[in-house]
Amino acid sequence: MLKTVKFGGSSLASAEQFQKVKTIIERDAARRYVVVSAPGKRFPGDDKITDLLYRCQALRAQGLSFDAAFQKIAERFIGIRDGLGLNLCIEAELDEIRSRIEAGTTPDFAASRGEYLNAKLLSAYLGFPFLDAGEFIRFRDDGTFDDDATTVRAGILTAHERAVIPGFYGRQRSGAIHTFSRGGSDITGAITARLSESDVYENWTDVSGFLMTDPRIVPDAKVIETVTYSELRELSYMGASVLHEDSIFPVRKARIPIHVLNTNDPEASGTMIVPDSMATDKEHARPITGIAGRRGYTVITLTKDNLHNDLGFSYRLMGILARNGISAERMPSGIDTISLVIDDKRLIGRMDQLYHDIMIECSPDTVEIASCIALIASVGIGMVRNPGVAAKLFSALSEAEVNARLIDQDSNEMNIIVGVEQRDFERAVQAIYRAFA
Ligand code: ASP
Repeated sequence: MLKTVKFGGSSLASAEQFQKVKTIIERDAARRYVVVSAPGKRFPGDDKITDLLYRCQALRAQGLSFDAAFQKIAERFIGIRDGLGLNLCIEAELDEIRSRIEAGTTPDFAASRGEYLNAKLLSAYLGFPFLDAGEFIRFRDDGTFDDDATTVRAGILTAHERAVIPGFYGRQRSGAIHTFSRGGSDITGAITARLSESDVYENWTDVSGFLMTDPRIVPDAKVIETVTYSELRELSYMGASVLHEDSIFPVRKARIPIHVLNTNDPEASGTMIVPDSMATDKEHARPITGIAGRRGYTVITLTKDNLHNDLGFSYRLMGILARNGISAERMPSGIDTISLVIDDKRLIGRMDQLYHDIMIECSPDTVEIASCIALIASVGIGMVRNPGVAAKLFSALSEAEVNARLIDQDSNEMNIIVGVEQRDFERAVQAIYRAFA
């Protein structure tokens, strides 16, 4: 058994957190590759080291002093080192970073140093070798991740029996340090898991897994024990905040499960994200795995007698959308109607032209525009095998006196989408949750 483990910023924000991380790693000899974020917030309102590093670079670029921000960074790292009683001359590293910022380094280089120093500290604390991500994580010179150039370097990683690796960055062909987008240490962890052919990718955070729905709407929402990659994709697309989106692909392709765990509550079972083919009868027996939703949609409904016989109607409609640079989230249709569900942001400054083109080219009998719509996705691979899910969902909505303005089901029968007035959004999510939790 081999595990790649990634610890997020709050898991490594202080010396006390480092101690918890060491205990976790030492409890399981399979935890051999350790990917780290930069120190995050210790309490609400605290600074994230990455933000401070970006701030230093930006202040320097404007010709302003970055002393105060850099001082906070230095204090945090020195505080962790001293709190752990480590004999590591971090001051020399800090001086070097300071002079690189002084000399006008890039935002990417500056930001990457948070992960770099944190990995140095954890490597010394665990007694695992430090392996710089720049040695095997490669980017093209246009800044996109270079999968091929990274994969051929897998041997650099696997030559190490164990290692601590800084997340978030790699190198371009030119040698320059380049970062993923914010939260990108999740991606480094996923790539490391794939290259090392780990059996599991453990992602340690400060929550005990993914909740069945947004806790701001349902405060006692249950943790999801197991979710499949496809379910997770549907839920995160509809607004559930999960791991960095790009961190799913490397492990999904390699069929490696992700286990989301809590550093502050390591005994909690967390959430397992598994390839669809690894879902067991238990997951198939469960009608709904999670509920996610988003506000801010407009629904444009066109009606036309005999629309289903009007060959080319949908084709013309799609052409209008493409020409206006608008993509519709969903397009539920009936015998004489077709609706476009569009994210409000995509309609800004484009509504008049869209309406005009639809009237001229599609000549519908009526056009109805409903704004302030929220979409709610109820997702579960078990839906296919469990009859009556839709009936239960709609009776829950009707009991809560929520009017469903739109209903759509994915062709893979894994996702029922309901459009409701924004003011009914929370009530609708609560009603669906109560019906299925
Ligand atoms: N430290 C980086 C950030 O704050 C990357 C990460 O934590 O994953 O975005």
